[in-house]
Amino acid sequence: MEVYLDHAATTPINKAVLEKMLNYLSREFGNPSSIYKSGRNAKLAIEDARNKIAAALKCKCDEIFFTSCATESNNWAIKGCAFNNKDKGNHIITTSIEHESVLKTCSYLEKNGFDVTYLPVDEYGLISIEDLKSAITDKTILISIMFANNEIGTIEPIKEIGEIARKNNIIFHTDAVQAIGKIPIDLKEYNIDLLTLSAHKINGPKGIGALFIRQGLEIETFMHGGSQEKGLRAGTENVAACVGLGVAIEMAMDDIEKRVIKVEKIRNKIINDIYLNIPCCKLNGHSIKRLSNNINFSFTDVNGKILVYMLDKVGIKASSGSACSCGTTKTSHVLLAIGLPEKLATESIRFTIDENITEEEINYFIKNLIFIVDNLRNHNDFSR
Ligand SMILES: *Cc1c(COP(=O)(O)O)cnc(C)c1O
Repeated sequence: MEVYLDHAATTPINKAVLEKMLNYLSREFGNPSSIYKSGRNAKLAIEDARNKIAAALKCKCDEIFFTSCATESNNWAIKGCAFNNKDKGNHIITTSIEHESVLKTCSYLEKNGFDVTYLPVDEYGLISIEDLKSAITDKTILISIMFANNEIGTIEPIKEIGEIARKNNIIFHTDAVQAIGKIPIDLKEYNIDLLTLSAHKINGPKGIGALFIRQGLEIETFMHGGSQEKGLRAGTENVAACVGLGVAIEMAMDDIEKRVIKVEKIRNKIINDIYLNIPCCKLNGHSIKRLSNNINFSFTDVNGKILVYMLDKVGIKASSGSACSCGTTKTSHVLLAIGLPEKLATESIRFTIDENITEEEINYFIKNLIFIVDNLRNHNDFSR
């Protein structure tokens, strides 16, 4: 049996998404900048996808810009904002639990004359609003805080953060990759100026993302060249992928409330099953302010990476740390930030589900998890 429990790393492409894309990878191959019919059709397809994204976010289609991935969107939002406002100030506020694409962009800016404050988080992964307020200086130009964390699923107080940003006239960017399709987002109510999203986390194709840029907000050009994306992000559009993102986000928003309730129920059952059946374990993250599909556990004396390998042998796909730090021996910066001791941080594993998981799959997963954790612990005992 195959049980895919790594939806935070990537998701399978939806059939309807793929079908809509295929036309633009074969028959309708014209360059969207060309003025003959197949070019115009490609252009129309891109604009239709842009409209779908705008409808999903309840914003204007002029405010949506296609990028090659969320990593690019984060780079563009942060660097574009920093360089455009360097006369106003050089201070940026972010958190210690951001995705690497935010953290490494910030450290690049630090080498280029910017100051960055990395807000700490509490044991659940939440930033403190008081910390945020006291971090603001008259040099602060940007606050970049993720909507929800990809490793432990913690949902940050975005509305309060947006309020503070607006009150202090500071630009607010949020990496909403994990929140799209799981939390209804109101850009206006939350005072969001820049928002990052990615298609492959919502059953769309890899290699396409978008950046919402609030109308009137100026940021630096990211890719210099042609006039695509209003000249701000040049390069011939990835037409099929744009189409795929459009369909994927439309489906992700469809019936979002019902789906979230369903997934939450399944998530809670799995968490309970683990607590009931496996001793010496700890749920990482917040119990309520948590993404509906996220389960992150530490199992004392069970190395997370080894557990991932053992689960894979029986067809169960999970993740230790974040996918990005996989292959390296680096301990998750998120788990360290919530105060886990180094050892327990390496003894952690993330399971991220979706609404299509069956009862049979859940039972198979729980049965194997109990067995493997028990085995690894006993093995550890023998080797001592
Ligand atoms: C996956 C992810 C990214 C990176 O997305 P790509 O499209 O793969 O570059 C950024 N931020 C978060 C929170 C993510 O989960």
